[in-house]
Amino acid sequence: MDYSPKQMQADLANQQFHFKKKFGQNFIVDKNVIHSIVNKSNIDKDTLVIEIGPGSGALTSELGKVAKNVLCYEIDETLKPILEKNIHSNTTVIYTDFLQRNVQKDLQNYDYQKLYVVANLPYYITTPIIVKIIEDKIPVDKINVMVQKEVGERFKAKVGTKEYNSLSIFLNYYFNVNKLMDISRNVFMPKPNVDSIVVSFTKKDKLIPLKNEEIFFQLIRDSFKQKRKTLRNNLKGYDLTKIEKVLKQHDLDLSVRAEAIPIEIFIEIANHL
Ligand code: SAM
Repeated sequence: MDYSPKQMQADLANQQFHFKKKFGQNFIVDKNVIHSIVNKSNIDKDTLVIEIGPGSGALTSELGKVAKNVLCYEIDETLKPILEKNIHSNTTVIYTDFLQRNVQKDLQNYDYQKLYVVANLPYYITTPIIVKIIEDKIPVDKINVMVQKEVGERFKAKVGTKEYNSLSIFLNYYFNVNKLMDISRNVFMPKPNVDSIVVSFTKKDKLIPLKNEEIFFQLIRDSFKQKRKTLRNNLKGYDLTKIEKVLKQHDLDLSVRAEAIPIEIFIEIANHL
């Protein structure tokens, strides 16, 4: 059950497995990378780990050694014979589309102190997966995921940069976002056209109070609707007098663009609407 890249490649060949681009299948074939991800995740025997897209089980097998339980979602059922060979008895794989799944319901079958998501994500749906975790209120303490480098940089974007957008605000409201490590494209099979990073999202202990979460997120989405436009233009349907009043206290006015507004000011505006 110890993962060996050579054995995995032999198993995939024996099963005549065909990598499916449509499912974003690029499997890790470097033991050191897998060990680094697992070690940096600080998983212990109180931790339930969710893995989205276990593939042939390279990461899954190591997660199973340190976690209390591992719960995986894999869309490609043809991986079953190889995957089941590589996992431990504390690991369950549900063969389904993660995006369609009621994860909260699955979690009712588990007893755990901490809930982590650790995964090498299918890149074509990185953002929908992260958004689902937040919108479905899956009670995660930490998310450590491998993503395409450019996408990861956007997740942790700071105010005033061109990568700063509604999603980075959304994420930074709930989590401290950090880069854990760079990953070369050479550690995957097949080799992708992009480099990757592992990004870590750790739940913030204290959130800045919001009067109404929905209003806050709608305000952010609308403010960034057309990135080049000013708040006055993007927020036409809003009570601009109230917004202007808050902006003025920070020496700003309605001619500002959303990318120049820190999250705290967005929160203040939302709490005044
Ligand atoms: N974890 C493996 C590894 O690191 O070697 C595989 C990672 S590969 C980048 C992404 C995996 O996600 C594939 O196994 C793919 O079949 C699976 N996948 C793609 N879309 C999915 C979805 N909607 N729900 C669940 N799994 C999905």
